Amino acid sequence: MISLNTLQTEIYNEILNLKMESGSHSPSLSMIKSRVSNLHIKIDACFLSNPYATDLFINKLKEELLDKNFLLRDILEYYPSQNKSIANGLSKILNVPSNQIFIGNGAIEIIQAIVQKFVKKKILINIPTFSSYYEFVNDGVEVIYNKLNKEDNFCLDTNAFLKKCEMEKPDTIVLINPNNPDGGYLSTDTLIKLLDNLKFVDNIILDESFIHFALGRNEYEIVDNSFLVNKYSNLIIIKSMSKDFGIAGIRVGYSIMQEDKVNKLLKNGYLWNSNGLAEYFLNLYLKNDFQKNYLEERKKYMEGTSQLFQLLLQNKNIKVYPSSANFFLIEILNSYTSDQFAFTLLAKEGIYTRTCSDKLGLQEGNYIRLSSRRINENKIIASAIENMFK
Ligand SMILES: *Cc1c(COP(=O)(O)O)cnc(C)c1O
Repeated sequence: MISLNTLQTEIYNEILNLKMESGSHSPSLSMIKSRVSNLHIKIDACFLSNPYATDLFINKLKEELLDKNFLLRDILEYYPSQNKSIANGLSKILNVPSNQIFIGNGAIEIIQAIVQKFVKKKILINIPTFSSYYEFVNDGVEVIYNKLNKEDNFCLDTNAFLKKCEMEKPDTIVLINPNNPDGGYLSTDTLIKLLDNLKFVDNIILDESFIHFALGRNEYEIVDNSFLVNKYSNLIIIKSMSKDFGIAGIRVGYSIMQEDKVNKLLKNGYLWNSNGLAEYFLNLYLKNDFQKNYLEERKKYMEGTSQLFQLLLQNKNIKVYPSSANFFLIEILNSYTSDQFAFTLLAKEGIYTRTCSDKLGLQEGNYIRLSSRRINENKIIASAIENMFK
């Protein structure tokens, strides 16, 4: 284990305290900046977004909004469109009828809505996972965990999973594809096999917030499983746009489900739950030239991500698990606990990663989650991790 100087030790301890106050989501970069003095964060590899896509959006914003003040004024002064009307726009690009689309103020709002409205008695969730799915359940709901095994590289063992579902008979199942925090992926064929055998379950939540980072049958074609909603009436697809488009700050997400479920949600609210900038983004997303630019930025980012994987594989002090997302689950094999590793890397090298010490299902062994950043930054990250073991 490498040693820290006095200042670095001070920083290390301040971060540790902050983490203990933050619950199950990591303290944000701005929170750390405001609370930990003397810390210089070079790279945020905790947050999971494509920085090139953010650049693209900022350039469009400058060109179309800031230089044309009247448009900006409209966005800020007036109400955004209503949920149904935004869904109507999105339906053209998703090839899904608009009455099957529900717009959320980020996917997190949709998760909360669905979990609190549709889950009745029992929800089954694979772990490790995105914690909101079990944290948001109503009192009295039983949460059953299905542990993904490190021996299987955290891939879902579909037969064992189906057996567990038959035994437990949950009314709701959550599948995250690719999964956060390991990037484990379920192909469309696997999903169909699962869905064929899970017709007795009321709600199958399929969170595809990271699906744009997965490689489909044809390289760089975006995997699209939305057609499954028409074949399986219990299926609910949730999609954040925060990570693939690098726009978590404007809060955009959507969900595809049966019309009666959309109506049930809209009956009790969510009328203007979007916002002007989110609506501006979605209108941009409908345009061909933006699509084309986005696909280029996505490809560049995905190439950088697989380069990062190759670099990390060379390090024998860590184990990198295969991932179909834009991040890697890394097991620290030597010298450090998860917290020690993550916070030393931050205090010493200015690189922020996600310690997984608090993640259900990852408490045996030491794990961190590392996200892919710009290509030049990924190189810095890989060599900083090398330096941790010198
Ligand atoms: C980040 C994340 C979300 C939440 O996304 P927002 O659209 O920013 O609310 C949902 N699901 C998973 C799996 C995530 O990682």
